[in-house]
Amino acid sequence: MLGLFCVVVSGIASASTTRITGLRTAADTDRSRLVFDLGGPVEHQIFTLQDPSRIVIDIEDVSIDTDLREIIPDSDLIRRIRSAPRNGNDLRVVLDLTESARPKSFVLEPAADYGHRLVVDVVGGDASGGGSGGDRNQPNADEPRDIVVAIDPGHGGHDPGAIGHGGVNEKLVVLQIARRLNRLLEETPGLKPVMTRNSDIYLPLRERMRRARKADADLFISLHADAFRDARARGSSVYALSTNGASSEAAKWIANRENSADMLGGVSLDDKDEMVASVLLDLSQSATIESSLSAGERILNKLGSVNRLHKHSVQQAGFVVLKAPDVPSLLVETAFISNPQEARNLRSSAHQEKLARAMRDGIEEYFKTAAPRGTRIYAQNN
Ligand SMILES: [Zn+2]
Repeated sequence: MLGLFCVVVSGIASASTTRITGLRTAADTDRSRLVFDLGGPVEHQIFTLQDPSRIVIDIEDVSIDTDLREIIPDSDLIRRIRSAPRNGNDLRVVLDLTESARPKSFVLEPAADYGHRLVVDVVGGDASGGGSGGDRNQPNADEPRDIVVAIDPGHGGHDPGAIGHGGVNEKLVVLQIARRLNRLLEETPGLKPVMTRNSDIYLPLRERMRRARKADADLFISLHADAFRDARARGSSVYALSTNGASSEAAKWIANRENSADMLGGVSLDDKDEMVASVLLDLSQSATIESSLSAGERILNKLGSVNRLHKHSVQQAGFVVLKAPDVPSLLVETAFISNPQEARNLRSSAHQEKLARAMRDGIEEYFKTAAPRGTRIYAQNN
């Protein structure tokens, strides 16, 4: 089990029903476990539905005081958790899956520090149960490969992101910049870009990360445009994850979005707190944080030659990650869309190209010194 994530549900139980007091999730690559902490024993049924793949858990006579959609499951298999009351006092919990998976469930009696629990295991992959025969995307080991850069244009679809000066949408300008960066990286020998989205669609965060991992990305860059209530705020920023902070704080943050500015070390990100924090929550641990910082500094440095910088060093969010990740990851706030001048810049194709070029140069420079073994760029520089 790699990740562990816990949300404590608070509130007042109705007298007649058993209360769900918390939900914990943990996951490794092909299996996820959900543990419902309960105020007493419960009866439940579990079944699957297809198109799209879902697991449905019906729990009898329980109450819950939180919206499970708030919980970002620590799982590549579970895209989303939702719940709704049914038949009066019953609760239906639906796990939206990224692929078909088999559920297994059992209840546990109180033991040690724990009370009654309902455990749901979600097992992905095919049912053969055999070991994996090696990395699925591993090409011929002798052949140097390209370095894969996942470009993630923030927001999309029903989520416009920040609405900037003059009505410009963050989701649109970051997609345009991402496409430019994508083209530039395609033209750069040894680098291969993939985009998490290339149209105006909404992608849940998990899906963005899943797409990057599926492409075996060596670097993940999420592109955003900043906004602030003070229209004078301007400049580019780059974020990486910090190792500071406790996982309980991270969990608390998810439960209390109001505290998000504090959780980001006093850096106010205004309306995009959720996106930034969620991306960062999903990112790397210390090994990859170093890489993220190093890549981030180079990108920030290059951005500084085409745009004013909002912060002159890579910013780090002060909470711990929930997932043990493998991909150095950054979040780039290209500029302030709430600033009239920068909103104009963000819409200008010439300026978009400059921003994309700066990021490409930073990425290229970083991988010249830090190319993963087995890649063409590594072979050229060692
Ligand atoms: Zn954003």
